Amino acid sequence: MASACLAHGRHPFYAPSVPELPDVAIYVERLSAHLVGQRVTAIRLPSPFLVRTFDPPLTATIGKQVRGFSRIGKRIVFELEEDLFLVLHLMIAGRLHLGDIGKKLPGRIGLLAIDFERSSLVLTEAGTKRRASLHVVRGRAALPAFARGGVEPFEVDEPTFVAALQRENRTVKRALCDPTIVSGVGNAYSDEILHRARLSPMQRTSNLTEEELSRLFDCTRVVLEEWLERLRREAGEGFPEKVTAFRPEMAVHGKYKQPCPVCGTAVQRIVYANNECNYCPRCQTEGKLLADRVLSRLLTKDFPRTIEDLEEIAAARGRPG
Ligand SMILES: [Zn+2]
Repeated sequence: MASACLAHGRHPFYAPSVPELPDVAIYVERLSAHLVGQRVTAIRLPSPFLVRTFDPPLTATIGKQVRGFSRIGKRIVFELEEDLFLVLHLMIAGRLHLGDIGKKLPGRIGLLAIDFERSSLVLTEAGTKRRASLHVVRGRAALPAFARGGVEPFEVDEPTFVAALQRENRTVKRALCDPTIVSGVGNAYSDEILHRARLSPMQRTSNLTEEELSRLFDCTRVVLEEWLERLRREAGEGFPEKVTAFRPEMAVHGKYKQPCPVCGTAVQRIVYANNECNYCPRCQTEGKLLADRVLSRLLTKDFPRTIEDLEEIAAARGRPG
């Protein structure tokens, strides 16, 4: 029940989320550094559900040398000799772990181990839902089918980015998270990008001024670049083992009720579908609180419209007697 969750001060939608461009890009960099040139020596696949293709079989990779790794949106592509490709989507809870040859596949959450000549790569998926997917394909020509069509923030110029955002009249939050509009960005980094750009997540893309669109383009690249650098530094010569969408250095994402690092105002949220959006009402919405269905339903008439109102309500509630 939503009310029970609110009473506990923590929302069920504070769930882990799909690794986005910076995390996936760093996986690709570290996989490349560790595994290129090695041959696959064995495959351990306790449950067949991970693999969504049947021809070629995953065992076709045994004996093949790794040529490289790349990223398609939020997917990781393994490039092997003889034109074999593995396309991995980690979804929400899939994570990679690199270790010594024969690294143990943990029971229940261990989905796949690929043994190489000098190391083993293990895929785990926490939780009970099996969402991560692996496709085995032959030929580079099969790869574009995995792209969702969104623009790559580092590969397009400003007019192309703006045109993609404005193709459909959406809220800017939804547009940034839509893989058919922008590639690689999801719930976490869109919160961070919008905060940096000082834009309301609920602003319609058709209503953004030229200056706002330009700022959004710049902030998208700046925020992603900053995180790429931070995660690269964290991974160092090793392998990223703490991939999460909730990081203490984030400004607003996952920071509900915590002070905005720019202005100190408590970060707010909008709960929707299976997710929530975090924003600073002072930096992004001119002090307005954005309605969300769950909160609206619970609070009905006294739903606060501004942060000042909210502070008043909080103060009134906190008053003894
Ligand atoms: Zn702020």
